[in-house]
Amino acid sequence: MRRFFQAGRAGEERSTRGAQMTDAAGAGRFAPSPTSDLHVGNLRTALVAWLLARHTGRRFLVRVEDLDAARVAAAPDVEARQLADLAAIGLGWDGEIVRQSERLDRYAAAIARLETYECFCTRREIAEAASAPHEDGYRPYPGTCRALTEAERAERRRTRPPALRVNAHGAWMSVHDRWAGTVSGPVDDFVVRRNDGAYAYNLAVVVDDVAQGVDQVVRGDDLLSSSPRQGWLTERLGGRVPEYAHVPLVVNAEGRRLAKRDGAVSLADLAARGRPAGAVLATLGHSLGLCEPGEHVTPETLLDRFDPDALPRGPWVYGG
Ligand code: GLU
Repeated sequence: MRRFFQAGRAGEERSTRGAQMTDAAGAGRFAPSPTSDLHVGNLRTALVAWLLARHTGRRFLVRVEDLDAARVAAAPDVEARQLADLAAIGLGWDGEIVRQSERLDRYAAAIARLETYECFCTRREIAEAASAPHEDGYRPYPGTCRALTEAERAERRRTRPPALRVNAHGAWMSVHDRWAGTVSGPVDDFVVRRNDGAYAYNLAVVVDDVAQGVDQVVRGDDLLSSSPRQGWLTERLGGRVPEYAHVPLVVNAEGRRLAKRDGAVSLADLAARGRPAGAVLATLGHSLGLCEPGEHVTPETLLDRFDPDALPRGPWVYGG
């Protein structure tokens, strides 16, 4: 399913320094959800997104993925801290910050263009009916509600508000990841609007990437398996499938995904321990093979040394 390749793609690179960036140029982006402070792994992904966008002559956009209103409300000021942290390590972005919570009409319009159906299944019903979950825990939807009659739907609406799923007709999709190679997978009838009315991440991310001209998607590799689904939706919505570049996650000394409980992982934690943002940038640059730990660097210094084909491919073990 997943083919790894190492082939260089240098011919594709646009000249970078001195490149004229216009709105016609493509764009890369960093799209954090403002539900908790960025940790060093998120900052490293943001740095790679910035480096790859700039290296290939693209604009670099920042989009705040704040669709989950309850989680965002439970974490006030996180968005401001995330943006301040990006600025503190020297990452600048082009244009205005875009917030998903301000774009709900676009998501509704996109749904109107898709073939969708109402789904009344609970998580448990899906778990019972579906095949085994994927390694990331995602359960492909088995299509239970696809063939309900109008009378059955009317009956079920009385007890449970429906989610909306897109009918993918059993599609299969391949996308290209700069580091993982070809990523192929079946596209299930995934949720585009949740049963609490919130637009789903998989929908909003694609609508926005298409609308913003994003043709390079850099993010953590926990989302690698979502990329065929999102690539498929991109085509349905008339966009061009972006190039993906999934960055390996950061793990703790035990090899587990880095989390808050691992101690000093945010810029604020690290500053409180006497490590200013510049020192953290050097740590991130070192993890990417671009500088010595403790070296005085800026993102621009790292960009001068950046070669996307030479990036370390394994998870980064963060020791604090
Ligand atoms: N908002 C998502 C997250 O913070 C990232 C989405 C993406 O980059 O496609 O995990």
